[in-house]
Amino acid sequence: MKYVDEFRDGALARRIADNIAHDAEPSRDYRFMEFCGGHTHAIARYGVADLLPANLRMIHGPGCPVCVLPVGRVDMAIRLALARGVMLCTYGDVMRVPASDGLSLLRAKARGADIRMVYSPLDALQLARAHPGREVVFFAIGFETTTPPTALAIRQADQDGLKNFSVLCSHVLTPAAITHILDSPDVADYRSVPIDGFVGPAHVSIVIGSRPYEGFATRYRKPVVIAGFEPLDVMQAILMLVRQVNEGRAEVENEFTRAVTRTGNACAQAAMAQVFDVRESFEWRGLGQVPASALRISERYAGFDAEQRYDLDYRAVADHKQCECGAILRGTRTPTQCKLFGNVCTPETPMGSCMVSSEGACAAHYAYGRFRDIPLVAA
Ligand code: SF4
Repeated sequence: MKYVDEFRDGALARRIADNIAHDAEPSRDYRFMEFCGGHTHAIARYGVADLLPANLRMIHGPGCPVCVLPVGRVDMAIRLALARGVMLCTYGDVMRVPASDGLSLLRAKARGADIRMVYSPLDALQLARAHPGREVVFFAIGFETTTPPTALAIRQADQDGLKNFSVLCSHVLTPAAITHILDSPDVADYRSVPIDGFVGPAHVSIVIGSRPYEGFATRYRKPVVIAGFEPLDVMQAILMLVRQVNEGRAEVENEFTRAVTRTGNACAQAAMAQVFDVRESFEWRGLGQVPASALRISERYAGFDAEQRYDLDYRAVADHKQCECGAILRGTRTPTQCKLFGNVCTPETPMGSCMVSSEGACAAHYAYGRFRDIPLVAA
């Protein structure tokens, strides 16, 4: 398949691995964070880590949309479905995220709530049209990749005059999360999470372009290489990062030129700007409150904002005491350092969000048996 097979070529992978091993200086360590769950998945699935030299370590970042969803937001959705009787629609992965009181959307559905899995917000819109007597709420999650379709659904509902459709908006923003990671004491002081550079998001960058990352290179002196989700994309990005570090450069480079431009998708950006405003602060699982890191529905479209329509308030809820998702999302722990990994917590019985989505670090490690652990703190 074009644009897939040639990016999974084993012989080419070995050549890039040889180049990485050749260029990586034995006298130093290289620590790169792959921000996206898609990259985490590719690294685990194709055994990329096994092809890297011992002094080069990949650190999982918080770029899995389901994993960063805090328990309190899932609780809001469950309250809407169970107590307010709405038809709640959302993506499949979200259905199994553990919430308070042993619940998840799937378990709430088993208790009789009308919760439906959809593939896009337009499916939810269609359900609202088909059931004019019901209130239909789309539980919108994800990064800039899934935000434009939500914006289009809201605009369409407005144009059609649909009165029984609203959105529980939990969309989050990538650059704010990277800034937060770089400003955290663990990274800024180079204490427990030394990060030498980032493998930048693929699909998110198609929408926002490579320009928003330029500040990370200039202000924080961290190289960023935007990469596609195929294994050769990731390996080529790692090689480009090694070369930047060796040469003392901190630049934004684009490995994923077949899809990403510097300015991104202007239509998608315009739709987002029209329908959403930036929230002052938003809680991320693992990162806590992150300023200007999420979107709310703008005043112009307030009639479609489920938080306003149902007067919902957000209540923060702590994660399961033994779940290490928070530390994994901050890059300070690895999945196998969690005591519950693979015994109590499996993809069939997830105790934390990182085991739910295939993009989650725990699920990726579990599915592909990648249990190789290297201490995070350099000796
Ligand atoms: S293995 Fe399960 S409980 Fe442990 S960090 Fe991962 S998701 Fe949380």
